[in-house]
Amino acid sequence: MADLGNAQNTAKVIKKHNFSFRKRYGQNFLIDGHVLDRIVEGALIGEEDGIIEIGPGIGTLTQYLCERAKKVVAIEIDKDLIPVLDDTLSAYTNVKIINEDVLKTDMKALIRDEFAGMHVKVVANLPYYITTPIIMGLLEMRLPIDNITVMIQKEVADRINAGPGTKDYGALSLAVAYYAGTYLVANVPPNCFMPRPKVGSAVIRLSVLQERNVGVKDEKLMFSLIRAAFGQRRKTLVNAVANSAGLSFSKQELTDALKELGLDENVRGETLDLQQFAALSNVLT
Ligand code: SAM
Repeated sequence: MADLGNAQNTAKVIKKHNFSFRKRYGQNFLIDGHVLDRIVEGALIGEEDGIIEIGPGIGTLTQYLCERAKKVVAIEIDKDLIPVLDDTLSAYTNVKIINEDVLKTDMKALIRDEFAGMHVKVVANLPYYITTPIIMGLLEMRLPIDNITVMIQKEVADRINAGPGTKDYGALSLAVAYYAGTYLVANVPPNCFMPRPKVGSAVIRLSVLQERNVGVKDEKLMFSLIRAAFGQRRKTLVNAVANSAGLSFSKQELTDALKELGLDENVRGETLDLQQFAALSNVLT
């Protein structure tokens, strides 16, 4: 039985192992059973599924995952947590802990070697200092995974979920939308963690698209246009892209391309959706 989703037992484990929190590793452990239930429900885990957990900490979410999935592989950077995990997960035979930096883990090999024949999902209460590199890394690697369900800063969740014309909409919203559908599972206040983080949190599920839903001839160009447009988001798209150091389109070329797409020449990038950025890059290719 999972016994770690509360403050009392978390404090007991920390005391027993004389563990000191490392701020630099973003260590904020979950102490709320309801939130843990919401995460595992939100991740849509089947009993034949394989789960990759990033940053198991003292094993709180890991216990919940082990009870739902066929197998859990958890990647933890802090070597001081390994003996703690050996203790808190001793009742489970379907878990493997890897003491590694997730940003250096060969995920393709891990999935091939550990999860043959299984549907794979990523579930984590992420270390917030590397939220974006972890999420974008997982998506850009085009791993054979169904979805990614993660606790992240509320502010980053808002940016990922934002649509055209809103203040949170930007390059991150578009980059994620290219690879996945997004769904907000829950908002989570600071008092659900030990120690309490300074920011609010949210759990989001990214359902990985098995096929792209936009046709792009040159992905690199599309993302360069997106970056240029949001690098100077108060400018018109034509001015922002024409001024961009990395791109060499003239104002006339850009105005003509927008016209071809039926868009106003004074349009700002922040009003375009992913399909429109894809179409613009295709016209300019
Ligand atoms: N899963 C636990 C929970 O929910 O209570 C702990 C989550 S805590 C927010 C983030 C965890 O990620 C910590 O255990 C931390 O040591 C670990 N971590 C930080 N950076 C990491 C990295 N680069 N690779 C793997 N784990 C990392």
